[in-house]
Amino acid sequence: MVHIEQGPIRPPSEASSLLIRVTRNCPWNRCAFCKTYKGKQFSRRSVEEIKRDIDTLATVTEQVKQISWDKGWSGRVNGQVVSEAGSRYGHLHYHVAQWLYYGGKNVFLQDANSLILKTTELVHIIQYVRNTLPSVERLTTYARADTASRKSTDELLELREAGLARIHMGMESGSDIVLKMIQKGTTAKQLIEAGQKIRAAGISLCWYIMPGLGGREYSREHALGTAAVINQGNPDYMRFRTLSVIKNTPLHEMMQKGDFTPLDEDEVIEEQRLLLASLEGVNTTVVSDHILNLLQELEGTLPADRDKMLGIIDRYLNMTLKEKANFQLGRRAGIYATMNDMQDQNRYLYVEKLLSNIESPEQLKIALARMRRQFV
Ligand code: SF4
Repeated sequence: MVHIEQGPIRPPSEASSLLIRVTRNCPWNRCAFCKTYKGKQFSRRSVEEIKRDIDTLATVTEQVKQISWDKGWSGRVNGQVVSEAGSRYGHLHYHVAQWLYYGGKNVFLQDANSLILKTTELVHIIQYVRNTLPSVERLTTYARADTASRKSTDELLELREAGLARIHMGMESGSDIVLKMIQKGTTAKQLIEAGQKIRAAGISLCWYIMPGLGGREYSREHALGTAAVINQGNPDYMRFRTLSVIKNTPLHEMMQKGDFTPLDEDEVIEEQRLLLASLEGVNTTVVSDHILNLLQELEGTLPADRDKMLGIIDRYLNMTLKEKANFQLGRRAGIYATMNDMQDQNRYLYVEKLLSNIESPEQLKIALARMRRQFV
C-alpha cells in the first residue's frame, strides 16, 4: 500500500488542504497547556524524503482521477469518486480525493514550525510541490514567532514569491507575564517583529489567541497585553481558541497546586470583551470557529464590526443567571450553536430538563469543564 508521512494536526480552516509533512513534531514542545507532541522527538525531514512523498501524492492524484474516468465522470472528482477511492485503496487516496473534490488548490505544510527549515530548502520544497501538483495555488503552514522573527523580510518575501500564502501562528497571549508563565518561549517583542515582517512580505498572518490562559491571576494582563500586540502586528486574522486545561500537562499540575485558577464561562467572555474593546487601528478579522469558544457567533472584521461584536458579548453578559446556565449547558452539549438557538422552545425546554438534574451552580461548572475537556 502506498504511504506518505503525515502529522497529527492542522488548523481547522485547512480542513480541505492536502497535508505534506516537512518536519516532525515540535522543536519547542514545552508550552504548559499543550499535549500534542509530548514525548515525541522533533526532527527535520530531508528534502529528498519530502520530495518522494510529493511524487507519491502526484501518483495518487492520477489514480483518483482514473477512478473518475473509469466511472464516466471525465476526471471530475465528486462524492462517489471520494468514497470509491477510500474503499478501493485506503486512507491516503481518500485524503487526496477529498482534496481534489474541494478544488485541489490548497496545501498545508506540517508540523508545528516549518519555518525552522533553511529558507532555501523550504522554497525548493514549495516550488517542487507547485511543479509536481500544478493545481496547487496556495500553501500555508504553522510557524513559531521566535523562528519567524529571525527570518529577514527578504527571506519571507522569497517564501511568498514561491507560493507561501499564509502563516498560522499560536500567539496564545501578548502578555510577557502570561507567555512566561505558560513557557511559550516567545515574547511580545518577538511576536510583533514576526507579525510585522510576515505582513510586510505580503504573507497573510493568522494569530491564535487563547482566552482564559492567564487564569484569574492574570486575566487583565492577558487581555490588555494581547490587544497591545495585535494593535502593533495588525494580523489579517485572529482566531479565538478558548483554554481547556488538559490532564497530564504542566498547566494542569499548576492548577492542582493552586498556582493557576481557571476562569469560568462568564469570566472568559468578560476577558474577550476587554481584549476586543482595547483593539485600535487594526483591520483584523475575528474568527471564533473553534468548538471550545462559548460564543461562536463572535465574528467580524475590525473596525467596522467592533460594535456588533461588543453587542454580541453584552447580549450574553446581560442574560439572567438562569438563561446563562441554559445557554452554557446547551452550547456545551451541542444543542445550541449560537444564542439565537435558545429561541427554539423545544430545544430550550430540553436543556431545562437536563439542567434540572444538576443540583447547584458549582456542579454545573464542574460538568461544563468536563464537557469542554472532551473537545481537545
Ligand atoms: S509551540 Fe505549539 S505545538 Fe509546540 S508545544 Fe507550543 S503549542 Fe504545542
